[in-house]
Amino acid sequence: MSDNSLRLVWVYPDLLSTYGDQGNALVVERRAHQRGLQVERYDVRSDQPVPTSGDIYLIGGGEDRPQRLAAERLRRDGGLQRAVGNGAIVFSVCAGYQILGQEFINDLGQREPGLGLLDVVSTRGEGDRCVGDVLGDIDPQLGLPPLTGFENHQGITHLGPSARPLARVTLGRGNGTGDGTEGAYNGTVFGTYMHGPVLARNPLIADLLLKLALDVNALPPTDDRWYEALRAERMNAAQQPA
Ligand code: GLN
Repeated sequence: MSDNSLRLVWVYPDLLSTYGDQGNALVVERRAHQRGLQVERYDVRSDQPVPTSGDIYLIGGGEDRPQRLAAERLRRDGGLQRAVGNGAIVFSVCAGYQILGQEFINDLGQREPGLGLLDVVSTRGEGDRCVGDVLGDIDPQLGLPPLTGFENHQGITHLGPSARPLARVTLGRGNGTGDGTEGAYNGTVFGTYMHGPVLARNPLIADLLLKLALDVNALPPTDDRWYEALRAERMNAAQQPA
């Protein structure tokens, strides 16, 4: 943070923003503005260096080939890893989540190294693609209401010992390992399979990112009736039999 201004970095929108993940940047900006914070937003294309002085980094989902290209460029660039070393907050979705891990299977069927920022390894699921609504309970340590979201992935993500599951699903597949976990986090680095976009459906996760950036335990309240109506609608819809 500098002079009451939050630096928000949206990583590689040209490669990783397939499923409306731009909404996550809009929600973080909006929630910050509602608290009187200014936001400097940097949309960093994959031919540009990733700045190392951001407060919050967002990285979205994508198809298999753009995911490989993004991983190659991020590894070569090194800026995101340095930012995390400086204490930055990273929130990643689906392909972005897999890239932050130790490795994943790329579009060529090969093991592709990730950035090693999360202790997770992603493989390709042999069964049906995981597609559909998700409901879950977020790790109680994070003090957040239930998760609602939408998933669309073939990858299966296994958590290593230093990653904590972000949530436990009550509906849907999440990490796809059959153990009920969804997403992962370690310190200030978060990953989830939820599109949605997930922060529009779960704005208190955006607030968590802001609290971490500001190093505060609470933020001034906002009028969340709209979000709560959306949440109730999605929870009801997701619980209806197909
Ligand atoms: N290509 C990855 C998978 O299918 C990620 C997909 C996505 O970002 N939705 O697992």
